[in-house]
Amino acid sequence: FVLSDSGSSKGAALVSAVAQRLTSQSRKVIEMFHQQLVKDRMRAGLEAGLRSQGPFTIKMLPSFIFHKPNGKEHGKFLALDLGGTNFRALLVRFKKQKSRIYHKIYTIPLEIMQGTGEELFDHLAQCVCDFLDYMGVKNARLPTGFTFSFPCEQTAIDTGKLVTWTKGFNATDCEGHDVVGLLREAIKRRNDFDLDIVALINDTVGTMMSCAYEDPRCEIGLIAGTGTNLCYMEELKNNGKETDGETRRSNMCINTEWGGLGDDGSLDNIITAFDTEVDQNSVNPGKQRFEKLTSGMYLGEIVRQVLLDLTRRGLLFRGHISECLKKPGIFETRYLSQIESDHLALLQVRSVLQKLGLDSTCHDSIIVKQVCGAVSRRAAQLCGAGMAAVVDKIRQNRGLDHLNTTVGVDGALYKLHPHFSQILQETVKVLAPQCDVTFFPSEEGSGKGAALVAAVARQNQEIYLL
Ligand code: BGC
Ligand code: MG
Repeated sequence: FVLSDSGSSKGAALVSAVAQRLTSQSRKVIEMFHQQLVKDRMRAGLEAGLRSQGPFTIKMLPSFIFHKPNGKEHGKFLALDLGGTNFRALLVRFKKQKSRIYHKIYTIPLEIMQGTGEELFDHLAQCVCDFLDYMGVKNARLPTGFTFSFPCEQTAIDTGKLVTWTKGFNATDCEGHDVVGLLREAIKRRNDFDLDIVALINDTVGTMMSCAYEDPRCEIGLIAGTGTNLCYMEELKNNGKETDGETRRSNMCINTEWGGLGDDGSLDNIITAFDTEVDQNSVNPGKQRFEKLTSGMYLGEIVRQVLLDLTRRGLLFRGHISECLKKPGIFETRYLSQIESDHLALLQVRSVLQKLGLDSTCHDSIIVKQVCGAVSRRAAQLCGAGMAAVVDKIRQNRGLDHLNTTVGVDGALYKLHPHFSQILQETVKVLAPQCDVTFFPSEEGSGKGAALVAAVARQNQEIYLL
């Protein structure tokens, strides 16, 4: 103030520079505080989930995967992958450490995501039928891996009850039911083809497996997409859960379902009014709080809430709230990625906004870009903090001073957002300095992984039969 009172423009520039440094410094302090808090809470959450001693919000679900692929997988497999936004059918052939993949993508209409369970599974069976016809393998009764990207309480490699829907799904009569059974019944109802479903896996597990096929050090799978989740190889002695006589083995892949962190209020310190609004408007209020801070389905909605607030306060869009801005879901992840791209001139940011129906001035577009940046940056940092908790846990499990490990990653937020992956990796470096973590983006991750698991499961079946 003293300097700017002098009226010199140089002075004013200095003040604004100092102010900016101060805000960027205090921002860093706050960010560090949040990251450390999330790392600590995540660690405590992982431990509580493993011990199954309530209250726990991170489910730590056994996957019944004890082995990573060994390169000896061979044969033809079908993989079905129900993700956050679509369903994919894949035909995968493994031969001499090489794989060949054919696939087709089917969209899931919203009314099916949120209709009855029977309609949903009938729709999936219809898609599978179309794919088998397309590939000309309808009578082959192929061994099949089913990737189901929702929390399932598994009791065997090929059986698991849906605990709760997440993301945009809300179909009736599925929670509490074995989803492999639901798919088998739907196929039976049609009575025009048959499958040998040998494995049910989470998409994180598929991602880890398909990366481990190429890099044997891979022992963690991460999804940063529509939703978020992580799995990793855990020592069975740490797992308090009953897994039926499998104690002879030493490791098992655990699907953490880390998106549930905070469902007991443990993240309330860092949750903003915008986050609360997004949570309340979702199909599962109060649930998946960590996921709602960090994944693609929600980031655009958080941005929209911030923009609504700024507009209401007259700081944006000349104080006028357009019909478009009132529409939930307008900011899909791909638009955030575009808006934040460093290669885009402001004029182009404006034209992206224009496409969304938002008339912006040049000044507006700068603000929108900053808001997007702040929201995705926080997401990447919190995801990195969670990852730091996991790798430090693995390191300590093994009593190591230093851990070298690889994470298989998939998801549009990680792969397509211009800054997310870098910020995530930097955060892990800072928060877990004793770990060297290599990130391995997966190709066809969850689908190919399901086929691999099917192959591994079949190999083991053969071993058991001997
Ligand atoms: C689900 C997880 C899944 C993740 C990523 C979450 O909403 O609960 O099972 O792995 O999304 O797709
Ligand atoms: Mg997927």
